Amino acid sequence: MIAAMSTPRPLDFFDCASLLGPEDLAIRASVARLVDEKVLPVIRACFEEHRFPRELVRELAALGLFGASLQGHGCAGLGAIASGLICQELERGDSAIRSFVSVQSSLCMYPLHTFGSEEQKQRWLPAMARGEVIGCFGLTESQGGSDPANLRTHARRDGGDWLLSGSKMWITNGSIADVAVVWAQTDDGIRGFLVERGMPGFAATEIDNKFSLRASITAALYFDSVRVPQANLLPEARGLKGPLSCLTQARYGICWGVIGAAQACLAQLLDYTGSRELFGKALAQNQAIQIRLADMSRRITTAQLLALQLGKLKDAGRMTPAQVSMAKWNNCRMALDVARDCRDMLGGAGISAEYVPIRHMLNLESVITYEGTQTIHQLAVGRELTGHSAF
Ligand SMILES: Cc1cc2nc3c(=O)[nH]c(=O)nc-3n(C[C@H](O)[C@H](O)[C@H](O)COP(=O)(O)OP(=O)(O)OC[C@H]3O[C@@H](n4cnc5c(N)ncnc54)[C@H](O)[C@@H]3O)c2cc1C
Repeated sequence: MIAAMSTPRPLDFFDCASLLGPEDLAIRASVARLVDEKVLPVIRACFEEHRFPRELVRELAALGLFGASLQGHGCAGLGAIASGLICQELERGDSAIRSFVSVQSSLCMYPLHTFGSEEQKQRWLPAMARGEVIGCFGLTESQGGSDPANLRTHARRDGGDWLLSGSKMWITNGSIADVAVVWAQTDDGIRGFLVERGMPGFAATEIDNKFSLRASITAALYFDSVRVPQANLLPEARGLKGPLSCLTQARYGICWGVIGAAQACLAQLLDYTGSRELFGKALAQNQAIQIRLADMSRRITTAQLLALQLGKLKDAGRMTPAQVSMAKWNNCRMALDVARDCRDMLGGAGISAEYVPIRHMLNLESVITYEGTQTIHQLAVGRELTGHSAF
């Protein structure tokens, strides 16, 4: 029997919600409420003013959204689907808010949890979960983020300490972070260091001329012979696989997050095309418009199904980096194309900040670039298929 679609679900055409458990649905609803009540009322002004809404950090912490997928040390220990839904709802508000939570959770708390000593975990994780300590992740350097093996920041032993020198570029949360997870070359290969705000020789400068992610802080970090105690070395991280494993976690969240951005754009466009009259009828009554709307819905739906399966693989411990690469590539491309199409179909109104697509579109230019560009993820999938690394 074929069921009639009694209630149209334009943002969930294949009823993915029916695949979610009651806990996942409750978490999604509480994050959605936070976004509706606290993020959406301020985010447009933040974007225009190039300001991160720091006042939201305690609200995000109160819902347990920092380190939500980690177990113990004040973290919620949620499954992969719930963690993904958190990202999806946050990015429905703005990619900047999801980026903040991703960096705090996947790029700072995750390496502490996975590679840190017990003392480091106790010192940092509960305070980070409460939002009292903000973290950042310093891997990229100005000579090329796509080639992280070419790190020039280096640390050498000096007595019982390390002396760290170099610089990092494009670091989310960099100038407000209390602690930076910094990846550097050593005589023993790439190692991770916890560099604390106020350590002599450590400076951060905000990059304030961005046209994208304007409600997020991005900074350059500078290290001039910063003395880092041995206690601040992540003992269990060795080689590039340390930072790359953090990026796999964060990219997983991006795969979900960008769906929320695309949904926000399509939701507004459906309203607009339903009410705007041109040539004596609603825009939505035109075949050409309907085909484009249908295509956006198709693209969002396939991204949702991909994210759900990726989440199931992650929970089963079977998710591979190449699968994450394909999903990050597909879902970011989907969201950016949907946002651009929505902006176009709003006509002149599409360039106004009164409508969300242009803000999401500009943000998604960063999201498709950071944590591996589309090309790099295509090459990662190509390597998986052929066994040859082309980069
Ligand atoms: C807003 C924002 C926030 C960020 N936050 C962080 C952060 O918190 N921490 C952090 O460490 N980094 C961060 N990044 C850095 C980000 O990960 C890098 O920008 C990204 O990896 C790309 O590196 P790049 O900018 O140096 O570009 P490049 O590596 O110079 O790439 C330039 C172009 O060349 C292409 N390319 C590269 N190699 C190949 C190849 N072999 N074949 C074909 N094409 C190729 C790329 O796809 C791209 O189009 C952030 C970036 C942005 C924009």
